[in-house]
Amino acid sequence: MTSGTKIAATVGLVLGLALAGWWFTDGTAPVIADNELSSLPGSFVVGDLRVAIPVTDDRTGVGSVTATIDGEAVDFSDQGLTLGPSLGEGPHVLEAVARDRRGNESRRSWSFITDNVAPTFRPARSSLRGAQGRTLLLFVETSEPVPALTAQFVGTSNLMESTGPLRWRLHLGISAELEPGLKTLTLSAQDEAGNAAVGSVDVVIEETAFPRGGMINLSPAQIEARKNRPGVEEAARRRREAFGTEIDPSITWTGPFEMPVQDAIMTSPFGKVRDYSDGGVSRHLGTDYAAPRGTPVAAPDGGVVVLAEEMSIYGLVIILKHGAGLASSYNHLSEMLVEPGDVVERGDIIGKVGSTGQSTGPHLHWGMHVGGFAVAAEQWIEPGWGTPREDDFGAAP
Ligand SMILES: [Zn+2]
Repeated sequence: MTSGTKIAATVGLVLGLALAGWWFTDGTAPVIADNELSSLPGSFVVGDLRVAIPVTDDRTGVGSVTATIDGEAVDFSDQGLTLGPSLGEGPHVLEAVARDRRGNESRRSWSFITDNVAPTFRPARSSLRGAQGRTLLLFVETSEPVPALTAQFVGTSNLMESTGPLRWRLHLGISAELEPGLKTLTLSAQDEAGNAAVGSVDVVIEETAFPRGGMINLSPAQIEARKNRPGVEEAARRRREAFGTEIDPSITWTGPFEMPVQDAIMTSPFGKVRDYSDGGVSRHLGTDYAAPRGTPVAAPDGGVVVLAEEMSIYGLVIILKHGAGLASSYNHLSEMLVEPGDVVERGDIIGKVGSTGQSTGPHLHWGMHVGGFAVAAEQWIEPGWGTPREDDFGAAP
């Protein structure tokens, strides 16, 4: 053996040992890199999505790569694999297992949700019927979670309030003057994957047979006050402003309201058309309860006092805002025990029954306003108010 050959053999042996050492000491597993699923917003797969399974190994090289979806082996090529609607709606897991030539193993999994179906809406049957001067409680169930649900009805568009998984609620004030007949309710939402849906359904608005009658005899001072049109209009404007029209779905209310006066007798229902001794005719936009002067008046639900002052016609008036487009008013009081800005809880005494303003005897005029429309307050104290019947949800429109 020449020295040259010897050197070559030695170099070869050293190199071989080094390579073998490198081979046998490869303790580094392959790297499975990020793919299209790694940065997918909300992990929603809509339609077909091509995903790669990028594996590298800087030592002995990639030996094998296998993949499963929900535990079932799947075939894929160098271009990866396609995730699509055939997987079925809902959550899935893609798992990849990579081995290098030495047998070192890496695993990586990606969770994703296939969503190719838009939500559908099932309104409660009782929601599809309302009446003039009443509150229409709209209850809707959605087929899948949605971040927001919008209801359009008679020129208003409101976000519904989420009351539980897949459940939504909205109170709509129906003006006493709204033309009865079929109206369209349109619901719209987008699921979290971006699948949008719009559904329309007919709502019947019935005519309310508002009673008429009962001549109200006014005193000379009351007749004078009614003649002061700017004063009357200013009071009406300030009241409208206090009631507001915004329905804020982030503020919630629970169950039926409480009666603000105890042992009282309803003497004039909401909407009654009344004649006045000065020849005037007007609709009564509240409910009257006769009670002795000084009877405590309680807040029927929590809220904020937005107005507490003496007004033309209405006498001493308190207006409470309960949030979510609900406001209530208490007229003709003898005493006011709260001030604007006060926060009241259900049952707190806010004032006392009286006969101030245009009133013919001690009584509480209780007004309820929903989204700016005056509606019957007596509806809000009905047992079960605010909760849908479980058997009330119909088919999707
Ligand atoms: Zn009244």
